[in-house]
Amino acid sequence: MEDSSTPEARDEWAAEREAILAAGTPEELERARTRALGRQSRLTEALRRLGELPLAERRERGRVLNRVRAELEALVAERAAVLKAQATARRLAAERLDMTLPGRRPRIGHWHPVTQTRRRLEDVMLRLGFTLVSGPEIETEWYNFDALNMPASHPAREMHDTFFLPAGRLLRTHTSPVQIRAMQAAGGRLPVRVAALGFTYRRDDDPTHLPQFMQMEGLVVDHGIGMADLKGTLWAIAREVFGPHAEIRLRPSFFPFTEPSAEVDVTCAVCGGAGCRVCKQTGWLEVLGAGLVHPHVLRAGGYDPEVVSGFAFGWGVERVAMLLYGIDDLRLFYQNDWRFLSQF
Ligand SMILES: [Zn+2]
Repeated sequence: MEDSSTPEARDEWAAEREAILAAGTPEELERARTRALGRQSRLTEALRRLGELPLAERRERGRVLNRVRAELEALVAERAAVLKAQATARRLAAERLDMTLPGRRPRIGHWHPVTQTRRRLEDVMLRLGFTLVSGPEIETEWYNFDALNMPASHPAREMHDTFFLPAGRLLRTHTSPVQIRAMQAAGGRLPVRVAALGFTYRRDDDPTHLPQFMQMEGLVVDHGIGMADLKGTLWAIAREVFGPHAEIRLRPSFFPFTEPSAEVDVTCAVCGGAGCRVCKQTGWLEVLGAGLVHPHVLRAGGYDPEVVSGFAFGWGVERVAMLLYGIDDLRLFYQNDWRFLSQF
């Protein structure tokens, strides 16, 4: 080792340098680093023994040793980077060439259950001859309340738990303002036969109510429209949505924008009318609100209630989805949990 006849051997620290450069793995590099710079290394020993040298020599020797130490440390860092790059390259090459790994199967998504229900309802309405229309989710108080026969003093206005916005605006509490907009857009022409689906907003939050929910609304205005037309249409819709054996029944009720008004029940889809937990043993499920369009509403839409009449109905899309899929908590729809959504 101490052969001084070649230039390489004259370098006192060549062995340390070569061991670092020759390291082929992180473990080998760590061993070479310990050997070159560790507490037992020749370099550390040489530094420790500086004190034994005469002052002049000590200063020069110290400078050299410190430079060597910095150089060896830099070499270790450089080698570590090279080894890391080599490992990455090897891994990438292996990944590219390994034909035995099973392929990654793309997860095929599907429509959200509420969207599936929405499309099903839209399809039914289109086949019944309705035109699909939409309206703004930010409404004026006039469209959301006044035009629908709910003046400022009307108690039903309190029940709606409205989200109010600046400048007399609000988030619509139902899709019924679209009735007014559709009649205005028709400009007096007949018939008006529209369906509107969309989000509505109320300050509610419990297992059966959410601050944001989807409604579907139907409106027909023409000469001589009566309760028979309403009932026949709702019966057709119920059979399309809930199956060929679905029956409906109308119970007298009250809504400001219809007169007369009715709550509409459909045969329980779970027990077929025999009575079960879902329908509270009645065999019926309350799903719709409906009625003949109130004269004030027709007037607000630009029609003369002495000449024409109409019917309207509305229901919650999530509620229909809950009944179709047997879901008991409305909030599940909007938690975006893949384990829940993938079941539909
Ligand atoms: Zn039932």
